[in-house]
Amino acid sequence: MGKSVRQYDTVSLKGIVVLCVTVLLVLQTASFHVASAQKVPEPPIRLPLNAPLPVNVVTVGLKPEFFGLDSMAKLQQVLESNVRSKAASYAGFLLDDPILLATFDVELQVLEAPQRFVAEFVNDLSLITKDPARLPLELKQANQNYRDFVRSFYGGTIAGSLTYTVTDMEAVVQLMAYYTEKYVPAILEDYNVYLLCGTTFFGGKIPVYYTLGYTPERQVPNAIVGLNMYGGMWTGRHVVIDLCAVPNPFGNFAPRSEQDILNYLPLWVSNDPNFRLGMVVKYVDEVIDTFFVKSLVYLPRYQVTYLFDVVVIDLTTSGGGVSSLINHFSPELFESAMKQLAPYNYYTSRYSYYHISDVPQMRQTIRTVRGYQVIDVEAALDTAQRLGIIKETVKGVAYTPILVFVSDSNIFPDSPGTLGIAWPDSQDPRYPRGVVAGVVYQSIQREGLTFTIIHEAGHTLGLAHPFQDLDESQMTPGKSGNLRPSFANRWIYAYVDSSMTYASVLQVTDYRELFVYKYPMRTFFSIFDLDALDRATISMLLYYYLLYRTEALNVLEKLNRPLEAFEKGKKLLELADQSAVEAVKLFQQHKYFDRLEFEGLGSQLVSSFDYAWLAYLSAYTMYNLIVGVQDAAAFFEPQIEELQKKVSDLSGRLQSTMAQLDETKRQLDQVRNSLEEERRQRTAIQADLDKTRADLQRTQDALTSKEKELAEANARASTYMYGIVGVAAVAAVLVASTLLLGRRRSAVITVPKPS
Ligand SMILES: [Zn+2]
Repeated sequence: MGKSVRQYDTVSLKGIVVLCVTVLLVLQTASFHVASAQKVPEPPIRLPLNAPLPVNVVTVGLKPEFFGLDSMAKLQQVLESNVRSKAASYAGFLLDDPILLATFDVELQVLEAPQRFVAEFVNDLSLITKDPARLPLELKQANQNYRDFVRSFYGGTIAGSLTYTVTDMEAVVQLMAYYTEKYVPAILEDYNVYLLCGTTFFGGKIPVYYTLGYTPERQVPNAIVGLNMYGGMWTGRHVVIDLCAVPNPFGNFAPRSEQDILNYLPLWVSNDPNFRLGMVVKYVDEVIDTFFVKSLVYLPRYQVTYLFDVVVIDLTTSGGGVSSLINHFSPELFESAMKQLAPYNYYTSRYSYYHISDVPQMRQTIRTVRGYQVIDVEAALDTAQRLGIIKETVKGVAYTPILVFVSDSNIFPDSPGTLGIAWPDSQDPRYPRGVVAGVVYQSIQREGLTFTIIHEAGHTLGLAHPFQDLDESQMTPGKSGNLRPSFANRWIYAYVDSSMTYASVLQVTDYRELFVYKYPMRTFFSIFDLDALDRATISMLLYYYLLYRTEALNVLEKLNRPLEAFEKGKKLLELADQSAVEAVKLFQQHKYFDRLEFEGLGSQLVSSFDYAWLAYLSAYTMYNLIVGVQDAAAFFEPQIEELQKKVSDLSGRLQSTMAQLDETKRQLDQVRNSLEEERRQRTAIQADLDKTRADLQRTQDALTSKEKELAEANARASTYMYGIVGVAAVAAVLVASTLLLGRRRSAVITVPKPS
């Protein structure tokens, strides 16, 4: 038994040593750098982004007297003290607490266009000739209606005619860009507002610019006349304002509010310099707010792939069915519009068609409001989802369903008058859930479906209408202190080169091609749309860069490991930080994204987007690397615990075995001691015995000697006397022997009897 226990302990001890070394090595690795762990490096950039906004107000052929001033420097003073000095870009208008994406410090400068600039520009303008006689009848009628209206409003002071199309305004913007590059190239990349008085350039005639479209409600051609401002072309961040043209007097498609006219009267109606200066201040201020620092509706998503799921629900009884709808929709135009807007994402579209008789449940999502069919948007999306008409099937893809109801009569999503609506996701209202649009079949035949779908898809990517912007007078603080914006409709800002506006704009090249029936409206986006989306996307990418960076470094801190321990992680952080700094630098120069240089993600590094994307990607990769380490630690931790438990079990057992050994040793010592005692006692007894034996011998000898003496005495004394003496002697010997025997009873050795 003792032998087997001992053998077991030997094996266990070896095991314990191996275990201890293993555990120590593991623990050592994990805590190797505790002493050298250092402070987490601070991010080199901060959000929200901030940039200067260089705004040049360029007067073209205007004299200071026009504003009642003695020098243009005075105009700069007036603008500097009355135009906003800060502008902010927000996302998430539908949130209680919108997200502040970027702030801009306005740097105003008033410049006079050089004389040659003005002379060449006026010469070019004279080349734009019109032939009103060739106008189509319906446009002539619209012209007459407009003239009647304006005459009654201005009391007959207007002498303008329907002479200049929006294409002319486009030409004006292009000329401004051209002569700026030629004569003032330093401001070409800035934000420029060109002020002119067209009347002086057009031989004293008051120019009236117009756009033309079709009202889906009335299904009649409708000219919108009287715009005096145009911009947003890709030629640059330029806005041209003709202070002497008749401004847009109407709201959307029909006269709604005379207030619009009163708010933006042409400058010739009054000679009061304060009125004129007030108008210029108002234009410059609102152009900055509405065009230059445009806000968004939804937060942009940076997702590699977007899936637009276009579903047509056909409610018509006499409509052309699926083939007719297909003829009035261009997937190529739709996809190319999306690609122009945000080339850094991939767009995929899926198209499907249902007749209402196939999905009768969808009819239940339509109710009648004031005689119109109105779609309950949330119910329509819910029902479509339940029926499997729309389904989010692919992970990692931004899925956007676009439900288009086509009807014989007016049909509106949400409320009468709405053509389409990008509906918020109730789970996360920062993003849209999908689009619902209502289209009259007859209008599809003229306008097609493409415009509506492009417009609504623009909303889902985050874009607001150009004529809608923050109404500062209605802003209230949100939860985090950001101002909760409310939209203001300023129709005067509807005329930009964008599909995001409601103004239906004809692509007029010459009078032979006045009508482009299929796609009469813009199928692309303005430079301000692109800027707004690029800025927001950069801001989001940098937001995620900061998020992953912080998360990754927090994980490292939790693991007690410095970044130096990760060669790859350290390099990625450096790359991410450098890229973020570069992204901010280019953002501040307004080099957001270069669509001409773009060849694919990561193929070029020329814009803020490119660097922001790299910063995001590097931080994200670093995060994944470090989280991988954390996961490995999480995987090994239970094993380490198990080993530690084994070690502690075994040391417990070792201790108890040691205690047993001690006990055995103690018992052995005891036995050894008692044996020693026994041996000692035995020696003592032996000595006693030897002594007794010697005593006995001496007694024997004494007895022998006495016997001899007795025999000799016998021989000499009488026989009687001799007898008594002998008996007494024998008795004495017997007594002595008995005493000795009594004392040594414990001894094993037999005492020889006295003979
Ligand atoms: Zn819209």
